[in-house]
Amino acid sequence: MKYKAPRGTRDILPGEVERWQQLETRFRQYCTLYGFSEIRTPIFEHTELFLRSVGEDTDIVSKEMYSFQDRSKRQLTLRPEGTAATVRAYLENNLSGQPQPSKLYYQGPMFRYDRPQAGRYRQFHQFGLELFGAAGAAADAEIIALSHDFIRSLKIKEVNLELNSVGCPDCRPAYRDSLLSYLEPLAEEVCPDCRRRFAVNPLRVLDCKDEKCRTLAAGAPVLEHFLCQPCAEHFNQLRRLLDRLAIPFTVNPRLVRGLDYYTRTALEFVCPDLGSIAGGGRYDYLVEDCGGPPTPAVGVAFGVERLLLAADEAALQQEAVPPVFIATAGENLEEEALALAAQLRSRGIAAETELMGRTLKGQMKQCGRKGYDLVLILGQKELSQDLVALRDMRTGEQKELPRKQVLDTVEQLRQAVETSAR
Ligand SMILES: [Zn+2]
Ligand SMILES: [Zn+2]
Repeated sequence: MKYKAPRGTRDILPGEVERWQQLETRFRQYCTLYGFSEIRTPIFEHTELFLRSVGEDTDIVSKEMYSFQDRSKRQLTLRPEGTAATVRAYLENNLSGQPQPSKLYYQGPMFRYDRPQAGRYRQFHQFGLELFGAAGAAADAEIIALSHDFIRSLKIKEVNLELNSVGCPDCRPAYRDSLLSYLEPLAEEVCPDCRRRFAVNPLRVLDCKDEKCRTLAAGAPVLEHFLCQPCAEHFNQLRRLLDRLAIPFTVNPRLVRGLDYYTRTALEFVCPDLGSIAGGGRYDYLVEDCGGPPTPAVGVAFGVERLLLAADEAALQQEAVPPVFIATAGENLEEEALALAAQLRSRGIAAETELMGRTLKGQMKQCGRKGYDLVLILGQKELSQDLVALRDMRTGEQKELPRKQVLDTVEQLRQAVETSAR
């Protein structure tokens, strides 16, 4: 075999793709229910956008981006996440000039040069929600409620919502100082990544996955004690709203998230065995940092591959109704079969015809293997009498119908199947 998919990428094949489609449909349904509209942005953006928004000292920007120069020497990057592009599009298309808030969702592939491991790919997929223009905790609650409803519909065995407040530019510096004075004497004990983080963003030591760092982080000062009055009130209000909506959560004082742009709310939906399946938070200064007017915003992103691993098998079962198969008994019936298929399809009934030139016996065998439940059989002799045979594969029953009754009969049977599938 000469060609293989690049390392860290994969094909999503028939048989598996149906679960993806179900998941996408489900996500869209919940977005619609909550009044979110889809936005589709390009797969690549100017590299500068990610440097500016995600932050130059994050792992994503420093180690993981797929960046390249195009033929006109533009510096471009395959998007490593969805928020930056959504902010860019929001500003560029003047969505801020429309009635606020703007409630947007996106879905699609993201790219990070990460070490491939189980459930992790270099081309991976995310669903995301972004809500622009609303500063109050109700906006955070709405993002969380949508996420909660969507995740609950997947019947994941165990998933916990973790919440924290990471403060704002008013109150974070004091915490940062306090954290630094706690960490500095421990500089020799933390992992090399964290030693480097000291200078740029000591908060990120708190969510380091290294065992030693976690132990040290457990004794660190807690951010909540440093929150300014408005940040504390925002966090309290969010907790009240979630209680009111009966959405369970735990406060995790060490949840700071990997990206630098978060303010106030940080959130993650965590599965004990898979880790985070969704994460996000409030980012009240990002729009401004990207050159826009001051605009509060809050969002969340879901890892699609992880959702698929976590989702209950039955929760994403496709209630698919197989196409009607049109079999041919004998030569020169292709034309007749295609014409009948066209009539069925024009009524919205999925139909397939024999394209491999198999014998009738071969076709019936194939129908059994592929799970077709209705087969129409066209034969030269029957057609000359204006008859078509209809076999119900589930009962083995076969009867002959006048050609002009075929469409109505199949339609009735189809409706019965679709109703029972629901
Ligand atoms: Zn604050
Ligand atoms: Zn560390």
